[in-house]
Amino acid sequence: MSPSNANGPMMEITTALLQKYSKPGPRYTSYPTAPYFSESFGEVRWLEELRATQDSGRDLSLYVHIPFCDTLCWYCGCNMVATRNYSRATEYLDYLFKEIDAVAALTNPARQAKQLHWGGGTPTYLHPDDIRRLFAHIASRFPISADAEKSCEIDPRELTREHVMALRESGINRVSLGVQDLDATVQEAVNRVQPESLIREVYGWMREARFDSINIDLMVGLPHQTVEGFRSTLERVVDINPDRLAVFNYAHVPWMKKHQLLIQEESLPGLETRMALQQLIMEKLTAAGYVYIGMDHYAKPDDEIVRAQEAKTLYRNFQGYTTHKNSDLYAFGASSISQTDEVFVQNHKDIKRYQGLVTEGRLPVERGLRVSAEDKLRRDAITRIMCDLELDKAAFGRQWNIDFDAYFADALAELKEMEGDGLVELSPGKVAVTQIGRIFLRNIAMPFDAYLKAKADDKPRFSKTL
Ligand code: SF4
Repeated sequence: MSPSNANGPMMEITTALLQKYSKPGPRYTSYPTAPYFSESFGEVRWLEELRATQDSGRDLSLYVHIPFCDTLCWYCGCNMVATRNYSRATEYLDYLFKEIDAVAALTNPARQAKQLHWGGGTPTYLHPDDIRRLFAHIASRFPISADAEKSCEIDPRELTREHVMALRESGINRVSLGVQDLDATVQEAVNRVQPESLIREVYGWMREARFDSINIDLMVGLPHQTVEGFRSTLERVVDINPDRLAVFNYAHVPWMKKHQLLIQEESLPGLETRMALQQLIMEKLTAAGYVYIGMDHYAKPDDEIVRAQEAKTLYRNFQGYTTHKNSDLYAFGASSISQTDEVFVQNHKDIKRYQGLVTEGRLPVERGLRVSAEDKLRRDAITRIMCDLELDKAAFGRQWNIDFDAYFADALAELKEMEGDGLVELSPGKVAVTQIGRIFLRNIAMPFDAYLKAKADDKPRFSKTL
């Protein structure tokens, strides 16, 4: 099982490799990562930042968090509340609208939103009329550019065709469907039962609505997953033929997400199985014509995300990979994270606290961080690795006015060992990620992370990289 690829022959993923590199590490949707945000950076400083950056010339990216779900998936790592009481969502929308209004009032009206994303929780928890109402409200407060990428996460359960049409009529042009695994035993073991017939019906509605792009999310590392079972899932999903696929690794962090204790640890696939699953995914999806972007993401060769990677214009933010690099991210709703070039802030996670602050006319910021000059430099190095899959040392050195080899001597020493393991190729001019290295991107980025070098006691606990 050694198919060739653009980077030469693909190496086998061995158990030893997985054992060595399966260790806690960030996903780098930001750098510094969210555990380093501090309550000492709160609402007042965020207001200052908002006022100071309105003439930056940067576009906007808008995120809306809907934290409600009908039921709890036991693997869930999101900020959400399971409730059947829909009045909680209508009440929440009132606060969300107020927060949107408050930030819009501070925003230069000439700035256009180039990207809009609804996540959760479950955005399609909202009834179709509320979907329309939410979109109309956002569009009434922020100019959304005609070519904006407007995306929404979809849970196929409890979904109707009317939900899908409401999204499309509202202007949503990209959707992402949560499938995870089609195996009934796995679905039952994580409390998320959604038969293939349901997935296909929902997918049919999505194609009928003519979204520009449909993504399917899968997950590996779930209880009772086997290579044979997941092979069947992959074959059926490839047959459904989405434009993009994301195959996430389940992050078992019961110390952070108590409900994950409902998952029997002994039912989780062991290292051998996880290794075989990684190999299977890469082989099956590349054989089916998908390009492996990195960090669990696959897309068809003509997808703009593939073109952006080739053109080195891909970027990473809290929604994952994006083609919109020079945007400020304004995020609304409980737990959501906003970002300018120099600042991150996160809203309160607790819905009551979030709503209470909005009632008082406050911006509901819980914590944040202003990045240092060194953070920016390291962020750029990590972003280049995660997005371009290579780093031109001379160009980087010129841009940041450093001697790359001297500045990153520690990181290069760590990467040397990874070169021996086939994850990277080091040349005098370049750090290049190999095809197999794409599975280990988090590990390859970690040597550039200064925060991970802090004393062990000061470090937050991250999920495992694999
Ligand atoms: S639908 Fe998504 S957010 Fe809701 S419980 Fe399941 S995994 Fe979590």
